[in-house]
Amino acid sequence: MNKIAQRSIQVLFLALFIVLAVIGKIQIWMFIFVLSALASLVFSRLYCGWICPINTTLKPLTWAKKKLHIKGFKVPGFLKKVWVRILMLALFLGILAFTIRTGKKLPVLPISVALGFTLTLFFPEELWHRYLCPYGTILSLPSRKAKFGMKIDEETCIKCGKCMKACPAAAIAKEGKQYSIIKNDCLVCRACAEVCPVDAIPYRR
Ligand code: SF4
Ligand code: SF4
Repeated sequence: MNKIAQRSIQVLFLALFIVLAVIGKIQIWMFIFVLSALASLVFSRLYCGWICPINTTLKPLTWAKKKLHIKGFKVPGFLKKVWVRILMLALFLGILAFTIRTGKKLPVLPISVALGFTLTLFFPEELWHRYLCPYGTILSLPSRKAKFGMKIDEETCIKCGKCMKACPAAAIAKEGKQYSIIKNDCLVCRACAEVCPVDAIPYRR
């Protein structure tokens, strides 16, 4: 599927998200998320790369930062610790349990969008995608053993490293000269496939 089709799907889901938020039915989005989490058992984190409203809003922001040559800060080392991910997830689940128990509607998702966007004004996208996003942390669990995912074809790869630079989630590792995709951190956003000069990164089994 080409980039235009992917962007169109992302914009359609973002529009749905906005409509649901405006009419006060954002809980329907949680249903979409739960279905996506189940699907990620087989198809990896397609939700992140194709559906997530946070990711969709980050794209034009990152594009603008690049155009304006805004470098921003590096991700601080302490934020890369596993406990930060766990803390964010615990906070998220705690708030969710509170809303279910009390029936109070807290705008968890819209707040997450605003938080992801604000942080990405100052830091690379990877801070949100890989280290802080509680939705991503949840999806990283079932996608670990997913059947389908982005894969680097070792035979075709010419080791140029362009994919690693393009990845917004720091989901590409380099061992020796070989590049490989960390499946559970991969958003299936195809940014790597788009820059690969030899078409070495298909989405496959
Ligand atoms: S961009 Fe393509 S050729 Fe370059 S390192 Fe990545 S997979 Fe290999
Ligand atoms: S590895 Fe490729 S598809 Fe996965 S998050 Fe990085 S750029 Fe996107």
